[in-house]
Amino acid sequence: MSEATITVLPGDGVGPEVTAQALKVLRAVEKRYGHTFTVHEGLVGLDAIASEGSAISEATFQTCAQSDALLFGAVGALPAAERRAGGPRPELALFRLRKEFGFFANLRPVRPAEASYAASSLKPECLKGTDMVFVRELSAGLYYGHMETVPGKPSEIRQRDGRTEAVDTLLYTEEEIERVVRVAFDVAAGRRGKVTSVDKANVLSSSVLWRQVVDRVAADHPGVAYEHMLVDACAMRLIRTPAEFDVIVTENLFGDILTDEASMLTGSIGMLPSASLGTRRTAGGLFGLYEPVHGSAPDIAGQDAANPVGAVLSAALLLRHSLGLEREAAAVEKTVEDVIRDGYRSPDIHEEGCTVVGTEEFGRLIVDRLEARP
Ligand code: NAD
Repeated sequence: MSEATITVLPGDGVGPEVTAQALKVLRAVEKRYGHTFTVHEGLVGLDAIASEGSAISEATFQTCAQSDALLFGAVGALPAAERRAGGPRPELALFRLRKEFGFFANLRPVRPAEASYAASSLKPECLKGTDMVFVRELSAGLYYGHMETVPGKPSEIRQRDGRTEAVDTLLYTEEEIERVVRVAFDVAAGRRGKVTSVDKANVLSSSVLWRQVVDRVAADHPGVAYEHMLVDACAMRLIRTPAEFDVIVTENLFGDILTDEASMLTGSIGMLPSASLGTRRTAGGLFGLYEPVHGSAPDIAGQDAANPVGAVLSAALLLRHSLGLEREAAAVEKTVEDVIRDGYRSPDIHEEGCTVVGTEEFGRLIVDRLEARP
């Protein structure tokens, strides 16, 4: 039996809807396997700005600091492309958590369920055997150029010689590269033993350094095969031969874009979980932040239409990486697959002959099957 403290930060839009399902699943695991989870809940994002004056209050931050794991929903109001300068910045909650807790490695598993291959825009024969994990660097790169003091500060737009110009800085230190590359090799050692390191070394100095570090770290892992791949080639091969990949490690922005592309292998961004990890240890593993890859999806918020799978699988990652409960994590993953195999789908992955269910019902189906597992 395990005891753990989990802080749940549902956030905005569909965040609370999908997080509620993930929490239901954690409660079912607690009951079914005899653990004790103390759960705290906190505000982040727009509600926190409105009622507590910042995207994450000091009190909520301290509650997080005293937890073994954080279960996060999503923050943000409008689609990212429509945001205006000077508006509220709900995403600062996430930036602060990532920065102050040192979450530098973002794990994003992509494993389309065979029963739902039809939800993908790729042909089923292309998907067969697809099972990969992205390890995205999360604490540096373009996202943090010019942001040393204010994480999330937008890039600098300035006037020079009568023209308007903008600048972003892509900076990586050797240490920042090495620690995330080591995580990738460790993950690969526990899987099929192959790392694909993705960069743009034909253009970017930071990528040249990235390659040097990967070559050096690889020498410490003779049992793991590795290759370098340019990011443009990787974008192409992800949809041509996705099953060739095992572990993909890459810098922050490339990882952001490639994982959205890879989410389409499963048919919807609503299917993908993530784990953000640093170095702080818990009794069962590493302190981490777990969240679906998607955003607050304001276009479908409040309609019981969000796919909860990404959030529920994030809870499975939480059980595995922060609480050391591998059997329970695998049971949650298997149960999600069973529900999909039995023909239930959220609207984003629906296909002919399947039963479309809402967010709540999808969560209930997972919980019922989990509780009934032998
Ligand atoms: P989004 O991921 O919220 O939505 C993109 C598309 O995917 C939308 O059509 C949406 O309906 C769909 N979608 C997303 N999640 C889904 C789910 N669970 N089930 C079914 N469909 C789903 O991205 P966006 O529209 O660009 O951004 C909306 C807001 O979310 C913005 O404010 C953005 O900044 C924020 N955002 C937050 C995070 C985060 O909190 N980690 C990540 C990305 C975007």
